[in-house]
Order: sequence, then structure tokens, then C-alpha cells
Amino acid sequence: MDMVCPLCNGIQEIIDQCNICGSKMIDEGPLVNYLDDYSPYLSNDITQLVDGAPHDKCMHLFKCERCEKDKRIEIQRVRI
Ligand SMILES: [Zn+2]
Ligand SMILES: [Zn+2]
Repeated sequence: MDMVCPLCNGIQEIIDQCNICGSKMIDEGPLVNYLDDYSPYLSNDITQLVDGAPHDKCMHLFKCERCEKDKRIEIQRVRI
């Protein structure tokens, strides 16, 4: 069994509310995608540490569709 992020794997969708303007915040993907210092060739174990999230969490970037405010949300990995 594997611990996977339900958002990265399309199992679940999370929509948050912007605390500035109240609009929808959309998942922009895992934060590791935005850390271009790190190559995509790193193993999964290392990339999980790169975003600063604990191993059982996947850090995602959410962006407000109206005011473009972004925030990080830790997504709990689930067992599949
Ligand atoms: Zn994820
Ligand atoms: Zn907003």
C-alpha cells in the first residue's frame, strides 16, 4: 500500500475560500512543481521533503480566481 495525495491523484478535489475577497481558491498543484531549483529526477522521497511538508502531507498551492492571492494548504495523504 502507498500513501498518496488525493489531489495529485485526482481522487479528491478541494476548493477553498479566499479570506480576502471570498471567491473560490483553486488548486494550482503541489508546491514541489514550483520549486525549480530541484529537478524532476529526484526521488519521490526527496521531493516530499523539499516542500517542507511532513511525509504524510502534500503541500499544495491554492490561488484565488478573483484576486490571485495564493496560499499553501497541507493535504493529508491517503492510503490506497
Ligand atoms: Zn498533492
Ligand atoms: Zn481573493
